[in-house]
Amino acid sequence: PPNTRIAVVTGGNKGIGLEVCRLLASGGVTVVLTARDETRGLAAVEKLRGQGISGVVFHQLEITDASSIAGLADFLKTRFGKLDILVNNAAIGGVEYVQELDTNEEKFSGLDVYQRLEWMVKSVNETFDSAKEGVQTNYYGTKHVIEALLPLLQSSSEGKIVNVSSDYGLLTFIKNEGVRQELNDIEKLTEQRLDELLDKFLTDFEAGALEAHGWPNGFAAYKMAKATMNAYSRILARRHPELRVNCAHPGYVKTDMTMSSGVLTPEEGARNIVKVALLPDGGPTGVYFAKGKEASF
Ligand code: NDP
Repeated sequence: PPNTRIAVVTGGNKGIGLEVCRLLASGGVTVVLTARDETRGLAAVEKLRGQGISGVVFHQLEITDASSIAGLADFLKTRFGKLDILVNNAAIGGVEYVQELDTNEEKFSGLDVYQRLEWMVKSVNETFDSAKEGVQTNYYGTKHVIEALLPLLQSSSEGKIVNVSSDYGLLTFIKNEGVRQELNDIEKLTEQRLDELLDKFLTDFEAGALEAHGWPNGFAAYKMAKATMNAYSRILARRHPELRVNCAHPGYVKTDMTMSSGVLTPEEGARNIVKVALLPDGGPTGVYFAKGKEASF
């Protein structure tokens, strides 16, 4: 039907993204499930179809690849002429996983959230290359997807962007007070300044000077990429009052990214994202939602 809402979900082939696709499609939204790997993406669409979920179409999207992003934009323009909901879910840990990906959840029973997160930090190496890749994917990849799809979102009656964020991106993890304040001063902050801050972060990473300059530690690149993505979302929300641009933390979820150490199922995590994606028109913008509830950055 011509008045159906159209959604794009990045990283839709597994984890929280796949469940976001399922929930949106179950609610009558036409979902473009995207994945960087065509085989994995098509298999995910087939899996949903096998479970009686229709209205999901596949399109390839590697968020760090400009031509792949352009290909998706062309497809959407030709096929639908608009986009109503963009869920920027795709991300990486920005670390090298030392432990084998293991879905044996048993070993976490009895551990509280703090102990699980501690186990996570011990299970990874943070190298300069993995940090760079984390920033490139989680911040720049997300930003480039938004930039390319913005005109299509503006063709919707009220385009909505949900940037899947993380409590790890909260400003409290940045000990450098100057940086923390800059990231929170949205009236003054510019995209160029965000680039400079990320450059400085990576330079300090390479020089082993993270702690000395008050950058986050433990999933440092992940935290910085999410913090800057949050700030960028707020800039965008101010610049585009015709859109709704919000950030949403799904909770601590059992997925490959957490090596199944989370406490929520992917579906529970996805509900916290979909709730924000389906807010009625005229709702909040430039807001952070933690597990479905408004919270501060
Ligand atoms: P998963 O690792 O299970 O899934 C990540 C998805 O992103 C996969 O589909 C992956 O594709 C895709 N992806 C990664 N890099 C790219 C890329 N360059 N281009 C396109 N797709 C890419 O992670 P989760 O489901 O746990 O994470 C989903 C979101 O939730 C992320 O934004 C994450 O930061 C956030 N989040 C997760 C939490 C958790 O506890 N799990 C907590 C807080 C936030 P592929 O299969 O090809 O690798």
